[in-house]
Amino acid sequence: MKTALVTGGNKGIGYAVCAGLAEKGFRVFLGSRDAGRGQQACARLQKAGHKQVEWLPLDVASADSIQGAATQLASLTDHLDALVNNAGVYLDEKADALTVSTQVILDTLNTNTVGPLLVARAVLPLLKKAGHAQIVNVSSGMGQLTDMNGGSVAYRMSKSALNAVTRILSAELSAFHIGVNSGCPGWVKTDMGGSGATRSVEQGAYTIVWL
Ligand code: NAP
Repeated sequence: MKTALVTGGNKGIGYAVCAGLAEKGFRVFLGSRDAGRGQQACARLQKAGHKQVEWLPLDVASADSIQGAATQLASLTDHLDALVNNAGVYLDEKADALTVSTQVILDTLNTNTVGPLLVARAVLPLLKKAGHAQIVNVSSGMGQLTDMNGGSVAYRMSKSALNAVTRILSAELSAFHIGVNSGCPGWVKTDMGGSGATRSVEQGAYTIVWL
């Protein structure tokens, strides 16, 4: 059975990615930093017929939590076909580059950029064992250099840097037949995207699941 780990799988796009991968027959490890939210999300997916979804405690902003999750994952499966680095924060939606706090910048980079790199490193032995594994980094058009604009400096930097991480890992992991891609889900109706967004979570998850 193919296996996947989705970070921040308890709601929003990550939840829809878990559902989409389960629909395709994957055994899905739903990463969530909160036990209640993670278990409730799994219960909802199981009720919808996706019995092969299970919660994995994972806070991508904590190196200890990442290591613990990788150890637990290795006790549950001997390979990992897909890692979806979906968990993310948008802490400076209304801030500008000249005034946003240093802490907000560092917290954003830690979750959106360093977290995905550390998770990939931690589960690499399992990805290697899958044969042709995929890492999918959920990025954003707001990090695209050719489309860069003012505002949200922390979020924009974190996603530009995530795209760099994607290219670097892609170069370094090709020898192990591991593909690494970034994808943007578009503007999606979630707690992050807001109710004015144009896309449903299923539409947002589509390209991520395809990758
Ligand atoms: P969301 O509804 O706010 O969900 C974010 C998810 O990330 C939640 O599950 C959250 O968990 C989790 N998360 C945040 N920090 C975490 C941490 N330290 N450890 C583990 N999980 C953590 O946002 P979304 O719209 O689904 O966003 C998902 C991804 O898509 C993000 O990477 C975002 O940047 C990207 N994206 C979204 C849009 C959009 O329009 N929505 C557009 C472009 C890109 P908790 O429930 O515990 O907080």
